[in-house]
Amino acid sequence: MDNESFITVEDAMKKGTGKVGIRGWVYRIRNSNKFVFIVLRDGTDIIQCVVKQEKSPKIYDEAVKLSMESSIKLSGEIKKENRAPTGYELDVEELEIVQNAEPFPITKDFSEEFLLDNRHLWIRSRKMNAIFKIRHTVIGAIHDFFRSRSYYEFEAPIFQPNACEGGSTLFEVKYFKDKVYLSQSWQLYAEAAVFSLGNIYNMSPTFRSEKSKTSRHLAEFWMAEMEAAWMHLEDAVQVAKDEVKFIVKKVLENNKKELEILKRDISTLEPAADKDYPTITYTEALRLLKEKKGLKVEWGKDLRTIEEEKLMELFDTPVAVIDYPKEVMAFYKPKRLPKPKTTPGDVALCFDILAPEGYGEIVGGSERETDIKELKKYLKQQGETPEHYDWYLDLRKYGSVPHSGYGLGVERVVRWICGLENIKDAIPFPRTMLRKSP
Ligand code: ATP
Ligand code: MG
Repeated sequence: MDNESFITVEDAMKKGTGKVGIRGWVYRIRNSNKFVFIVLRDGTDIIQCVVKQEKSPKIYDEAVKLSMESSIKLSGEIKKENRAPTGYELDVEELEIVQNAEPFPITKDFSEEFLLDNRHLWIRSRKMNAIFKIRHTVIGAIHDFFRSRSYYEFEAPIFQPNACEGGSTLFEVKYFKDKVYLSQSWQLYAEAAVFSLGNIYNMSPTFRSEKSKTSRHLAEFWMAEMEAAWMHLEDAVQVAKDEVKFIVKKVLENNKKELEILKRDISTLEPAADKDYPTITYTEALRLLKEKKGLKVEWGKDLRTIEEEKLMELFDTPVAVIDYPKEVMAFYKPKRLPKPKTTPGDVALCFDILAPEGYGEIVGGSERETDIKELKKYLKQQGETPEHYDWYLDLRKYGSVPHSGYGLGVERVVRWICGLENIKDAIPFPRTMLRKSP
């Protein structure tokens, strides 16, 4: 069996008949005194392979000794077999054991924590394999979406001297004789770059030392961000809706098989690919919560997880919520002027997109404040030293223009699309307050 003669399990099943050579790992194995059934796994799929004692006694004697996750090469005749897990079976004629594995620690019914401790091995599971393939589609779709709209990809530093989203979630890092922080967002640098490139996007690791244990916060996650010169809030909201819809469509086009492995009900995802997403204001959201869900939220408080969940029971697509109270928003989100008559206080030109089925916020964005006095005032109010932001404030001095942007949480989107209990499964090696290995 030389290297050229091997094809993937997926290609072998596409071929469907004749002799094929495949290689991979023993996913499941079951013996009787006449047969050994090996379910072989490679990156593409799984397939049942049968070794017959009567036909090849020597191979049978080798195969009975195989353990789970051993690496092997096989060849033989492939044929349709409805009783096999993926509809095909390979009648083994040649077998080469590359390494007979030690007893594999993961068999079945282990706790979440055990699987996380053995993440380096658990990523071989069909579940994780399916999630990674969907994640691959999501990431590719984000690049395609922005590039097809002529946005330039632009990178910001990961070591940063400033906070973007507030000091409480900053990771401090020793930096020679000084200190810096790991990036909480690409945004402040993006705001500098729109004066050079116009419309830009990026996807990169983002770090927040989230102290609360929730099913939607990671300490290290991937954020896909965009920033556009001359853009106002309404257009940024529309771009975000288009992006989310584009991603869902791509997954439905490319990953039906993986969604099935994850037992994700596709009919609950389809509205997000087909329908328009509504926009409501924060103040309307409070009214809906009160009238339809009997939940009273005091105006001026940010929406909590439970409130977002209750609100989203009223919708089957993602929803954009705009105009949150100015007081609870980051310093760079400007006031809506004039103040709307229907709101008790000032609101900000900002938005979140909430996913249906209780998956919560997937996008957060805003128009950016262009008034330097307002920026300084809110920086001070949030306990920052405006002098530390001198370079950022410069941007308001040299040809300032209206601009907007947003960030989409890649793992939040993957979690929702895959229907995952916890965001930790949306990234290969999760980092949280309580988990930093393997
Ligand atoms: P939340 O209120 O859920 O903590 P946020 O308002 O802090 O979110 P933004 O600062 O608006 O979030 O960040 C933009 C996007 O990045 C969010 O909409 C979310 O999708 C994602 N995101 C933010 N924090 C995290 C995190 N700790 N883990 C994973 N994704 C995150
Ligand atoms: Mg947060």
